[in-house]
Amino acid sequence: MTETRKPTDKSWTARILTLFPDMFPGPLGQSLAGKALEKGIWRLETMQIRDFATDKHRTVDDTPFGGGAGMVMRPDVVDAALAAATEDGLGTNGNGPAIYLTPRGRLLKQDLVQELAAGPGVVLLCGRYEGLDERVIEARGLLEVSLGDFVLSGGEPAALALIDACVRLLPGVMGAEATLDEESFETGLLEYPHYTRPAEWNGRSVPEVLISGHHERIQSWRAREAEETTKLRRPDLWDAYQKRGSEKGR
Ligand code: SAH
Repeated sequence: MTETRKPTDKSWTARILTLFPDMFPGPLGQSLAGKALEKGIWRLETMQIRDFATDKHRTVDDTPFGGGAGMVMRPDVVDAALAAATEDGLGTNGNGPAIYLTPRGRLLKQDLVQELAAGPGVVLLCGRYEGLDERVIEARGLLEVSLGDFVLSGGEPAALALIDACVRLLPGVMGAEATLDEESFETGLLEYPHYTRPAEWNGRSVPEVLISGHHERIQSWRAREAEETTKLRRPDLWDAYQKRGSEKGR
């Protein structure tokens, strides 16, 4: 039985500024994140940016100065939306950041996810069109965060991914919290590979050591696999891992 309770003032909060509020909770309404949302472990709030437009057509964008294709989101409209979104303090003065999701931002990594999950929540601004007028990013001191080196059509899928990554770290969301420590990136390495039943499948068997019942050998096999995979697939992570190791040893 899951008990449904109202989010409290202390619940981790994702407050999203978007032109498409119906995209939320979307996938976050399902599975682990959805159950946690129902339980009130975190709360989701959306704000329609268009509500802050002041003309009768409720315009949020305009053509770019300097010419070129596409439209740019107006600083005055976005600023008014941000003012309303941060009125209670969330997203300002250390109460979690106000983030603009953009391919020009700092790449989202697990360390930032951990930092965000440990705080009171986030204000997330989802761009559309060509993006935001630069001045409102500066004036509001927005933290610019990118999901990766590719271009989405809007910030919403990036917001969904960022929130998902944070919510699974909140206390009480994952069943077995111990599994979190071994996960990819938590140690600075990619995780070792996983296997389950059947032990023999389509002529492929599970690595012998995993059915040995020998805890220490299993641990060292997994550690070696994690290292080898990281070395091979992500030399950048491997270098950083080794550097940290040698600094610790000093
Ligand atoms: N003209 C921009 C791309 C605009 S894409 C550029 O070349 O940098 C439209 C919106 O999608 C952006 O405002 C941003 O909010 C979102 N977006 C696109 N790619 C993203 C990414 N990799 N990470 C986070 N947000 C992204």
